[in-house]
Amino acid sequence: MTESSRPGANALSDSAKTALGWAHTARFLTTASQLVHLPEGDLGEIAFVGRSNAGKSTAINTLAQRRQLAFASKTPGRTQHINLFAMGPKDAPDTYLADLPGYGFASVERSAKLRWQKVMADYLEVRRNLHGVVLMVDSRLGFTPLDKQLLEFIAPRVGTGEVKLLVLLTKADKLNKREQAASLASAQEVLADLATDASDLGMLLFSGPKQVGVGDLAETLYGWTHAHNAAAAAAVAAVATGDAAGDAAGVAATSPAADAPDLPADPAEPLSPV
Ligand code: GDP
Repeated sequence: MTESSRPGANALSDSAKTALGWAHTARFLTTASQLVHLPEGDLGEIAFVGRSNAGKSTAINTLAQRRQLAFASKTPGRTQHINLFAMGPKDAPDTYLADLPGYGFASVERSAKLRWQKVMADYLEVRRNLHGVVLMVDSRLGFTPLDKQLLEFIAPRVGTGEVKLLVLLTKADKLNKREQAASLASAQEVLADLATDASDLGMLLFSGPKQVGVGDLAETLYGWTHAHNAAAAAAVAAVATGDAAGDAAGVAATSPAADAPDLPADPAEPLSPV
């Protein structure tokens, strides 16, 4: 399990800058009320999920360095939909980011709740394209029963390593250091139940306004979505140069920027609070 807690770590590494440059390409693609309306093909998807008000829109906007990217999810009539964003080069997106409906609103009528649960369960359990889940948890509240239910939906695929999981402990700016450490410790306890030899689990203290964890979030997602491409590229290069022993996996692990899309190394705009 990986863990990162570098509050206020504003000095970004080159790999974080590359990853943020990639994240900055996020653009709205489509909205779907049912799974059948999601795009076909095998582009990898990363789902952002969380309780309403946990800070999901803020996290998406902060990651993409765009003020209103995830605004569509809050538009009346779209709150029960899956909103998809494309990432990567304009003419060749390499990843979809799926903003799933927030849950836990007491006011939502029972039939809507059941419909939501079905769509979420179906999406998380069977959507083949799903490569990773980012779960927003309010660092002051910890995991709610609905968060734990969501973990149950994905546990089988997380256990096999097919789906990676990153928990963002949001609003970390509202906690002092001791509380942040306690928040990480209790999240670790919950995640320990999901850990297997094959699982890829992580957690991160996060704050949109204070820019905590943003570079680490971008790097994690970039690694999820580009590691296999880097490995494939290295394998092709090894064959092309006759170096059959080329260690493709080693390239993927040590050089996340090896397969950088055609982007400026630096995000075009400085990170701005949303
Ligand atoms: P969503 O419903 O999960 O999309 O949550 P939002 O992103 O809309 O955030 C809900 C509320 O929490 C808003 O008032 C945000 O301004 C606030 N918020 C979100 N993230 C943070 C954070 O990291 N720090 C602080 N202090 N407030 C946050």
